[in-house]
Formats: sequence, structure tokens, C-alpha cells
Amino acid sequence: MPRIDPHSYADSAQPRTKHLRWTLSVDFDTHRLDGAVAHELAAPSGGPMDLDTKGLDILGVTDAKGNHLPHRLFPEEPILGSRLRVDLLPGSTEVHIRYRTSPEAVGLQWLGPEQTEGKRHPFLFSQCQAIHARTMLPMQDTPAFRVTYEAEVTVPAALTAVMSAGPEGAGSGADTGRRSFRFRMPQPIPPYLMALAVGHLESRDLGRRSRVWAEPATVEKAAWEFAGLEEMIAKAEGLFGPYEWDRYDLLVLPPSFPYGGMENPRMTFLTPTLLAGDRSLVDVVCHELAHSWTGNLVTNATADHFWLNEGWTVWAERRILELLHGEEEAALGWAIGQKSLEESIARFGVDSPLTRLETDLAGVDPDDAFSSIPYEKGALFLALCERTAGRERWDRFVREYIAQFRFTSITTADFLGFLDKKLPGVSAAVGAEVWFHGTGMPANAPVFRSARLEELGALAGSWSSGRRPGPAEIAAWKPAEMLLWLQKLPRPLPAGDLEWLDRSLSLTGKGNYEILVEWLVIAASSDYEPVFPRIREVLLRVGRMKYLRPLYGALGSHPRTRALAREIFTAAAPTYHALSRRVVEGILSKYEA
Ligand SMILES: [Zn+2]
Repeated sequence: MPRIDPHSYADSAQPRTKHLRWTLSVDFDTHRLDGAVAHELAAPSGGPMDLDTKGLDILGVTDAKGNHLPHRLFPEEPILGSRLRVDLLPGSTEVHIRYRTSPEAVGLQWLGPEQTEGKRHPFLFSQCQAIHARTMLPMQDTPAFRVTYEAEVTVPAALTAVMSAGPEGAGSGADTGRRSFRFRMPQPIPPYLMALAVGHLESRDLGRRSRVWAEPATVEKAAWEFAGLEEMIAKAEGLFGPYEWDRYDLLVLPPSFPYGGMENPRMTFLTPTLLAGDRSLVDVVCHELAHSWTGNLVTNATADHFWLNEGWTVWAERRILELLHGEEEAALGWAIGQKSLEESIARFGVDSPLTRLETDLAGVDPDDAFSSIPYEKGALFLALCERTAGRERWDRFVREYIAQFRFTSITTADFLGFLDKKLPGVSAAVGAEVWFHGTGMPANAPVFRSARLEELGALAGSWSSGRRPGPAEIAAWKPAEMLLWLQKLPRPLPAGDLEWLDRSLSLTGKGNYEILVEWLVIAASSDYEPVFPRIREVLLRVGRMKYLRPLYGALGSHPRTRALAREIFTAAAPTYHALSRRVVEGILSKYEA
């Protein structure tokens, strides 16, 4: 069986889907999607065809003429789900499947009105990366197989549906009180980029090809925060070549969204924690935009090559930031990334195979392997290649790489082959083999220095000897500078120091979640009671895993606050996404064991 992806039943010797025609009815009462999907095959073919499903009720399988096709749903395997095997008649061109999703589908989060900003309407959003598209529809759920799709989504009339696709109009649904939205995605995408959101949504135009969607209560704030989007797109095109997806729209989700952003093509999904009110966290948008080239256009063939998506995108994000705000600002970004890389390596252990760039995740859930390593180690590897080749040659290589592999899914070996062909000697000079297959961090990892970084490091380093920044100095700090200084402070700190910090920097009231959470983690790991109410407030509101992990970790590490962590989690868990719940469970059980 030539299975090409350890996380999919897709078989390269079998018929393959080229295009999906998908009809969905969204039921907020039962938390189910009623779906029908027609798979158009790449070529007329017959014999068995294995599809990935998880938690789906399969209601019927037919060919294009409506003839019943024999099929079998295999028992569920914990990571992969259930294989659906359909037996096609010779010369088949289509497979039609009627099905229903499970209320527990990991790829879908159903929010009650109380979990939205407006408090009046329910909300639904999908998150298919890495292997959750199969909880939304039966398909060959491997990034190695790309598909185009069209969809018709029927929702309650007061709500709007958006997808990772171009809108093709809306009309009244067959039932009264329902509305249907049509979409088309003409560019082939990997299944993890299938995306749907339904809610009480409004939009504001940001530029000639971009718009932001959000709940009415948030949309003006979002439009202000992301006003610089068109300039960002133009800078990215200068680096990587033309933007190939026609439109670049954004959707700001309710706060339970488990990630910072998800690069769903034509419709990036974002956490509302980016709305800092001072445009200081738009680097996440820069990252998701960069995925339009690295990830969405050139895609990792399996989760083992995830660094090809994320390492490239972090590297790209910092090059865009450098163009927009200069080298100093990009160096701050690299320094913040270095900190999260070190934390991830410490979490797995320096010898863990999960610290390799190319991984072997057979039998491992990609969600459990998720960390900063493919992001930051991958980006450092590419920065080293850039320094070795020289920027001009490297930038030419980047454009050639994207042009060569656009709309395909590739492995680390494909990348390496192309590097050796175009820039001979570079992979040997940087020791690519050690980067790809060695654990921990190679000794030749590039270091990003800047005068500002040194100053901030020295200032934080002299904390213990009593040096404190003055009010004018603090007032002149950019948010990233304040964050870096906080990250470098010693901890735990005595109550008097914490009191000084909060008074001088107004930390507990910060709207910038990066700074706020860094502060709350310092305070929690110092067992500083005055901030407990704010920690509770943040954990009850926000489900972004990046913040849950350190906050629950800090509370859990102290015997006195362990019970508090469990108590907050019990109250917050029903509002968290299944992925976030699992992460917190893992953290708390470690401490309680
Ligand atoms: Zn990314």
C-alpha cells in the first residue's frame, strides 16, 4: 500500500480527488453540519478509494448517476480516525457522499451567544490544520494531495458565512429563516486549508484587494489595527513574487480561537488578542500573509516537513518587518523568537527527536508535536543559508524556489535538491544535515545582535543591583522593547519589585497581550496575589494556546496556586477549543501527578 503520509489513509496508487462540490447546512441546535460532497476524480478510474474521516456519520455513497456504491467504514484509530473505503466501478468520474459531522468534531468549534462579543448570536469556526479536515468532510486529508473546491453553505438568515474561497453570492435558503452562501476556490489547496466560519459578521474594506471581517462590536477597531495591510502585501510581493490568490481578507474570531492566526487562503483567521489598540502586534498578520507564498503556495508534503511551512514563513515575516520598520525592529523579532525556541527545546528536552527539523511523526499526533521549533529553528537555518549565500543570491534563490514549487507539496529532500542545484556548496557549508536530523540547536546558529538589544539586556541584567529605568525611558519604549526587557528580568521577584513594576509600567491594565501575559507569568511564578483576579479574567476570556501554556504552567508550578489553576480551568474549559483543553490538561496533570 503506497501510503504517502503517516497521518492519512490516502493511497497514491488509488483514484485521486481533483475538485470538490460541497453542500453544507449548519445546525446550531445540534452542533452538526449536514453535508453532501461530490468528489470529482483527477481521471476516470475504478477500484478501492480510501478516504479519511473522523466522527462522521456516513449516510450514503453513490456514483454520479446515483447508483449505490459499496463502502466500508473501518473502526476508529485514535490519531487517524476511520478509514472510509469506497469501491468504484471501472471508469468512475465522481463519488458522492452524504454525511453528518459529530458535535465533538475537533475541527469545529461551536460558540454560544455568550461567548461572542455581541452576545446575541452563535458562532462557528473551523480549524483544520493539521489533520482535522476529516472531522468536517470525508476526503484524502493529506497535504500531499491538493484540491480545488466550490461550496454552498446554508445558515440562519441573521448570520454570514465566510470560507477560504472567493464569494460567489448569497441567496435565500430553501427553508424560511435560512440563507445560502456560495463560494469557489479555483486554486488547488491542501485539505488543511479548507475553512469555514459563520457568525454575525460585518466587514470593512482595507484596500483594493483586502477587507477585514469581524463581529460588529469589533470591526472598526480591527479596521484601524490592520490599516497597513496593503503596504504589507506590496512589500511581500517585492520579496517573493506576485500574490496569487486574488484577494487577501482577514477574519477576527471570538477570543477562544486557539492560535494567533491561521493562514486560510483568501481569509486569514485571527485571534482578537492582536487588537492591542496601537498596531503593535501586526507581526502576526505579516506571518499569515507570508504563508500566501510559503505554506499555501509551496506546501509541506506531510507534517514531518512542517518546518518548510513555518520556518520559511517566520523567516519571510521578519524580512517583511525589516522592510517596513528597519533592521533594529527585525532584530527584536528574532530575539523574541529565540526565547520561545529555547522554551520549546527545554519543554521536549534537548535530545528529543521532536527538536529535529525533519521529524518522524508516524504514531504521533501532530498537535502533540506542535512547538516553536519548526518555526524558529527553521527560520534560523534559512537565515544561516542567507548569510552564507549572501543576500542578493539568496533572494534570487527564494523567488526561484517559490516559482519552481508553486501549487505543489514538497519534502525536505525536494528543498535540499533544489538548494544544491541552485546554490551549490551552501548546504554543506551550513551543515544542513545536522540542522535537519540532529537534535537541539547546532553550534553555528546565527545570532542577531543590535545596539538596542544589548542595552535592554544590560538594563535587565542590572535589576538585582538596583538599576531601574526612569519614567522618560519607559515612556520611550516600543512595545517589543518593553516585552524583551520583561523577558530578561530575573524571576521569581519579591513582592516589592513586582509592586514597583506594576506601578511604573501599568502592566496589569495593558491591552497588548504579549506584554500583559509576560507580566502575569512573572507575577504568577512569584506567587504575587494582587494579579490573581486579572489572571482569572484573562484565562476565562482567551483560549489562545500561546497564552494558556505559560499562565497555567506558572500557576501549576506553585503548590499554593495549583488549586487555583484547576479551579479556573474547570470554569473556563467549556469555553476553550478542544485543542486548548488538551494542552491545559497536559500541563495540569503533570503538576498534579
Ligand atoms: Zn505559520
